[in-house]
Amino acid sequence: MVERAVQHPRGPDVPRHPLSDPLSPDGPGADARARARTALYVHVPFCAVQCSYCHFSKGPLTSLALERWFTGLEREVRLREPLARGASFSSLFFGGGTPSVLSSRHFGRLMTLLRGSFAIAPDAEITLEANPESVKPSLLDTWRANGVNRLSMGAQSFEPAELRALGRIHDEHRPDAAVRLARTHGFERVSVDLMFAYPGHTSEAFARSLTRALELGVEHLSCYCYITEAGTPLGDAVLAGAQVLPDDDAQAALYAALESTCAAAGFAPYETSNFCRPGAEARHNLTYWLRRDYLALGPSAHGLWRGQRYANHFALADWAGALEQGEAPHADHEIVTPGHAADEIVLLGLRLASGLWQGDHEGALWQAVIERYGDAFLAAQTQGRLEATAQGWRIPAAHRFVADDTIAWLAARSSGS
Ligand code: SF4
Repeated sequence: MVERAVQHPRGPDVPRHPLSDPLSPDGPGADARARARTALYVHVPFCAVQCSYCHFSKGPLTSLALERWFTGLEREVRLREPLARGASFSSLFFGGGTPSVLSSRHFGRLMTLLRGSFAIAPDAEITLEANPESVKPSLLDTWRANGVNRLSMGAQSFEPAELRALGRIHDEHRPDAAVRLARTHGFERVSVDLMFAYPGHTSEAFARSLTRALELGVEHLSCYCYITEAGTPLGDAVLAGAQVLPDDDAQAALYAALESTCAAAGFAPYETSNFCRPGAEARHNLTYWLRRDYLALGPSAHGLWRGQRYANHFALADWAGALEQGEAPHADHEIVTPGHAADEIVLLGLRLASGLWQGDHEGALWQAVIERYGDAFLAAQTQGRLEATAQGWRIPAAHRFVADDTIAWLAARSSGS
């Protein structure tokens, strides 16, 4: 049973994002795609809390762990920097973990390291993931002074009982205060994260959280369906039958409510789990979905660089330990074959509302996509699972929540299966 949310009084002075064009249902468009060129990701593996659902690489922030991470990063930067010469990064993303737990001094040290080693474009989108409780005026000033121009705020829910069950330490009012503070410190781009379909989640509670999130006046919303992860307290409780997930129909109904509520608020679904006002797509994530190069640093970070994929050791100790021994920080590494690249292009691109575009990919790679998937695309079109566009192919809006099913259906019928 979830508690009823306490309505938080809002004044008329909440700053609204300047983007207020008519809703475009078919994003991301050509401009957004052109801006998402090359990305840099840094994993900050520290958290003040251990949320009950979270399977990310993270641990408590201690001075010892922090120093080990910094030393490891310096080593990984030295290793990867020669590979990135000549690249100008159009986005930089600090994810975690909780990057906002870093002090001003440590964040400044991190930016000095990155700017001293990589060419970050003057107009780069620089995003920092922040938990609402850690947003403070002095940190906001530090982030702005170091070029951060976008905040991604983890709210997850606005229901007090749900926040407690999820292990979050902020209360239901804190995201509102944090967004207001960010606006007064000059942040025009703020995104909020919500989650849905976790154990006990109801349509009524979700509607209240969605309303509260959209009332924040942000221009971007990420809303992820809960995934049961073994090894997390909540995931283990679900797997043991002690907690029950909403069934498939209830999950689909929650997603339908998400889409309709967002549309009514002027937010277009440009990717399965991401909604925004026109022009406010996350450039960094778009780089992933378009399968363009991204360099990634830190424990558990995954990169795709010049045709090679790598996955760093998951735990801080393993990642730092490898670097301390003079070994590579990654646990896995592969040269991506054209066939595998075609699979990735389809898997990632079909998550976008505007779908796969031929013009996004080199001629040889698009040829590999068509050779492998051409017949499957036509069969899917016949069944209404896919529609042809002027630029390529996309999943019809009505099938977007089950995009993964369509992608699996296509993969099973591709010539590479
Ligand atoms: S959800 Fe975020 S804040 Fe919570 S433990 Fe995971 S990384 Fe940390």
